[in-house]
Amino acid sequence: MRKLIIFSLIAIALVFSACNNSNDNSTSIIKMFNEEQITETINALSEKFGETNSFRIERGVNQVASLWQEQDGNFEDFNQYCLDYFINDNKELDNAYNKLEQHFEVLNGYFNAMTVSLMEPLHLDMGEIHHIDNIMGAYSPSAHLTDDLFQNKLAFYIALNFPAYSLKEKVEFAENWTRIDWAYARMGDMFISRIPADLIQKAATAETNADSYIAEYNIYMGKLVDADFNTHFPENMKLITHWGLRDELKSNYNRENGIKKQEMIYNVMLRIINQDIPSEIINSDNYEWNPETNKVYKDGKETQIDKEPDTRYFHLLENFKAQSAMDAYNPVYPSYIERAYDRNMELTQKEIEDLFVSFITAPEIKQVADLIKSRIGRDLRPYDIWYDGFKARTNINEDALTEITSNKYPNPEAFENDIPRMLQTLGWTDKKAEDISSKIIVDPARGAGHAWGAEMKGEKAHLRTRIPETGMDYKGYNIAVHELGHNVEQTITLYDIDYYMLHGVPNTAFTEAVAFMFQANDLKLLGTENNIDKTESDALAALDNCWSAYEIMGVSLVDMYVWQWMYENPEATPAQLKDAVINIATEVWNNYYAPVFGIENSPILAIYSHMIASPLYLANYPIGHLIEFQIEEYIEDKNFADEISRMLLQGQIIPQEWMKGAVGTIISGKPTLNAVNKALEIIK
Ligand SMILES: [Zn+2]
Repeated sequence: MRKLIIFSLIAIALVFSACNNSNDNSTSIIKMFNEEQITETINALSEKFGETNSFRIERGVNQVASLWQEQDGNFEDFNQYCLDYFINDNKELDNAYNKLEQHFEVLNGYFNAMTVSLMEPLHLDMGEIHHIDNIMGAYSPSAHLTDDLFQNKLAFYIALNFPAYSLKEKVEFAENWTRIDWAYARMGDMFISRIPADLIQKAATAETNADSYIAEYNIYMGKLVDADFNTHFPENMKLITHWGLRDELKSNYNRENGIKKQEMIYNVMLRIINQDIPSEIINSDNYEWNPETNKVYKDGKETQIDKEPDTRYFHLLENFKAQSAMDAYNPVYPSYIERAYDRNMELTQKEIEDLFVSFITAPEIKQVADLIKSRIGRDLRPYDIWYDGFKARTNINEDALTEITSNKYPNPEAFENDIPRMLQTLGWTDKKAEDISSKIIVDPARGAGHAWGAEMKGEKAHLRTRIPETGMDYKGYNIAVHELGHNVEQTITLYDIDYYMLHGVPNTAFTEAVAFMFQANDLKLLGTENNIDKTESDALAALDNCWSAYEIMGVSLVDMYVWQWMYENPEATPAQLKDAVINIATEVWNNYYAPVFGIENSPILAIYSHMIASPLYLANYPIGHLIEFQIEEYIEDKNFADEISRMLLQGQIIPQEWMKGAVGTIISGKPTLNAVNKALEIIK
């Protein structure tokens, strides 16, 4: 059976290489050996082993050649290595897979357990943090593992025998792949690049610099003045771009003077995007500033200050240079755009672009915009992408809930002991609830808390939660239930999965979706039913979900198009990049937002800090929203435990296959839009 599949793989692989996309011809992959030498080795293997495995031979030899470096030996060594270690027999290949899987579970499992333990003084409420705790907390026991596996040549053994498939191929082959094919493919993903340490270091430095730049980009709101020299914000209010500015803007709906403050924040954002913000306004309260006129004052007298010298775009460009420098060492994904989408999210750029464009051009969006317009009683402004008025008003008193949670959970043990009951409430059998719970341990957290899964069977997942002397408050409880969702996912996908290489979920959006679904059941688990109108709260949730997806999809498209532009203009200066970003953001606005808002030429979609500090990460958020909505809609009338377990046991296959298996369709905005249609009948 597998032979048949592999035969069809060859045909498809040929088609793929025949229609190279534009990214491929700009990047030449660095290889120690030339094509003739590689062909010589392939021929030698074909002679020795025959044609049965010609696809695996060709792919394996090429893969090893792309990873082989001078210290590994010369061409003779390479050639001999391939001849000696290629596995031609299917039984032996299975045997090798099983051994490797077992060893990787040991390596991952113990390294993870070590890190969990070494970080305990930092994460748990264990008194003052010592200098030693900081050093050992930052120490990574597995930092040299990859190097070691290249040195003992296990990495080459895997690359030679377990083909690395690109996302396009995984999509193409998914229909015919069995579970073991997926497991082999995940093994093949293990060693697909070998980036020189100095390039990794440079990329980390560029990202850290961009991060610090953003982390220290605060605006002193009490220093903002209007034309009459009035201030409108609290004197000591200091807001970080863009999160703090955005959240303040959101909180000013239906407030006295709200629109004046919103306009001021909007002008600050435009100055940041355009980089004509006076440089000494950033992170400083030395001057008064009118963001509308861009005039600066010292003690009431106007003064001149230089604008920020395009630093924002300098950092973006540094990230681009550092990331694209690695292209030549990534034969499977030879551009950062492919690595961010195809490799990390396992969705192609085109797929994401099409999904987002079809969502944001849906007719429902305009209807939601009209609803917002009537709710706020004025024409829309560009910053209304952050309209915040679709929140269900709960009429449950939070203090009353805290009374219940603090009595129920005076300490972490009490929460841990209650997990079996919670899981039974969600539909797990008594036995299974006990089984899952026995693999989760609740620790007293120092900070807000988190969920940290095990990486090997026999180890436990950790739920970290902070419980004050007075017992767990409702907010803490709500978060703990979210973290419990993560722990349950981690436990099921580790202990119950058929192949270790498939443990986990396709990407972070999936584990968040599961955690949010647990969190949404928090009152049910407490035995207190929400007494707000469910029809209304569901309708509001649909509108809220839709509007925030609409906003962040546009931002993600800008991010995506900017990276394409940088690849087309690798020699650009920060000033040129600034112009390009503004043009791109304005174009996306004019295409997809101007028709809805009735207002043209706003570059507001370029304000996100993620674009500068976490390149191409943004698309994860709206995808997460859509997935969550699809799964929730699907399981609404079904047994929560059965459905979640069934979905999770698919493990780490690609996202679209996971979704097809989970809810019957690929990732789609339709369930959200359907819910919006219903909601528009209810909310006026
Ligand atoms: Zn989470």
